[in-house]
Amino acid sequence: MPSWTKGRVALVGDAAYCASPAAGRGGSLATDGAAALADAFETSDGNYELAFQDYNQSFRCFIEEVQAQVTDFGLDMFIPRTEEAIRKRNKEGFGF
Ligand SMILES: Cc1cc2nc3c(=O)[nH]c(=O)nc-3n(C[C@H](O)[C@H](O)[C@H](O)COP(=O)(O)OP(=O)(O)OC[C@H]3O[C@@H](n4cnc5c(N)ncnc54)[C@H](O)[C@@H]3O)c2cc1C
Repeated sequence: MPSWTKGRVALVGDAAYCASPAAGRGGSLATDGAAALADAFETSDGNYELAFQDYNQSFRCFIEEVQAQVTDFGLDMFIPRTEEAIRKRNKEGFGF
């Protein structure tokens, strides 16, 4: 989603940047996002437009990193590409 805010509305958590079950940390992302939004409000002295701009910029880098990890590692864990990898996953579990 290119922006997590519109007008006076801001999204956090799954509604904004659900990283899929393969991330295994949607709850953390939701609370981290709420904290990032609260921090942005604190530094912008109640100016919601500035706060939203800050939130959209400062938190995006972290979210993009997590979303990239999902495609780089998480999906292979949940949806192994080979028969052998599926058997290994079924035998050993997800590793957490
Ligand atoms: C099976 C499962 C296991 C998970 N395990 C983990 C884990 O181990 N670790 C982890 O970090 N994350 C885990 N997650 C992900 C985590 O639960 C979510 O990422 C997190 O709850 C997102 O929080 P949220 O507040 O953004 O959304 P939600 O928790 O989905 O909250 C949204 C709320 O909005 C309410 N709502 C919806 N529509 C309306 C409406 N029209 N009006 C009013 N209220 C409305 C819903 O009822 C809900 O209470 C798991 C998820 C699932 C499904």
